[in-house]
Amino acid sequence: MSGSPSPEKSQEAALKALERRADAIVKARSAYKEMVDFYLTVFRRQIEWRDRLAARPAPVDREQVRTCLSAGEPLIERYDPGLESDSLLALWAEMKEVFRRGNAVLCKAVEKIEEVERSGDFSPASWLMEQRPERGCLVREVAERIGVEEPMLASLARAVTFPHWRLVAASWLPSSGRLHEWKRFCCPTCGDTPALVELCTAPGEDGNISPAPQRFMHCAFCGSRWKVEDMKCPACASTKSGDAKYYFTSEEPELRIDFCKSCNHYVKVIDSGKISGEVHVGLELLTTAHLDAIAQEKNLTPLETCA
Ligand SMILES: [Zn+2]
Ligand SMILES: [Zn+2]
Repeated sequence: MSGSPSPEKSQEAALKALERRADAIVKARSAYKEMVDFYLTVFRRQIEWRDRLAARPAPVDREQVRTCLSAGEPLIERYDPGLESDSLLALWAEMKEVFRRGNAVLCKAVEKIEEVERSGDFSPASWLMEQRPERGCLVREVAERIGVEEPMLASLARAVTFPHWRLVAASWLPSSGRLHEWKRFCCPTCGDTPALVELCTAPGEDGNISPAPQRFMHCAFCGSRWKVEDMKCPACASTKSGDAKYYFTSEEPELRIDFCKSCNHYVKVIDSGKISGEVHVGLELLTTAHLDAIAQEKNLTPLETCA
């Protein structure tokens, strides 16, 4: 082994993997092209800024992680993520420019945000620092007050906070191994509902070459990825094999909707052995909205409503 790659090299590799995955998605699902083109700019910028972003999460050793997770608490409940306002504000300014150039609606929204910032009625630094998975009200309150669409403001806030939280997650949970102590289905770092399940048939980090697929959960708030072994339903904990069902179409061999016959909850699943490039949680969520529409037609409920 030659050690870890230099930051520039890993950044370049991450950008290439992102482009490859985006190309393949747009080829297969052209309806998402416009959206992918815009968000690629956001995702690229997040990767390019990686070395400039700062967060000083409380130092947490493996024993502290184990103790906290054994108690059923996500790490965020016990430890300070140490987000830095200067860093959040620098990326906030950058992302506002990206959104401003997106289209006329986004441009207008950014102008409104800047107007209240100038008037002193809104201070983005503390607001960004306070964002948490369960505090959607922080976005709603500001969106209503300044008259911008809530999803747009949420998307802008996430574009800024996600790469910062990703630093925190990487410091607290550095590997994507199995967390034996963690019995809950929410994210062990931030407590958010997992956004996506990844099936991985390739050899794992632990050198396991068994053909049985490994399952990983992805968090869209902090970028954590963690391995789960049990097949129980995350919503109702059913372990009956007859309850675990899925929908699948041969046109999209890498995608699936897994659902539980007992409680009707579903999750979106991607098979990373069948894609070129890496699973990028933001990009995958954006371009699998049609799976949510299918699931809802079949009266299935998304996992987050049971969190
Ligand atoms: Zn998380
Ligand atoms: Zn269930």
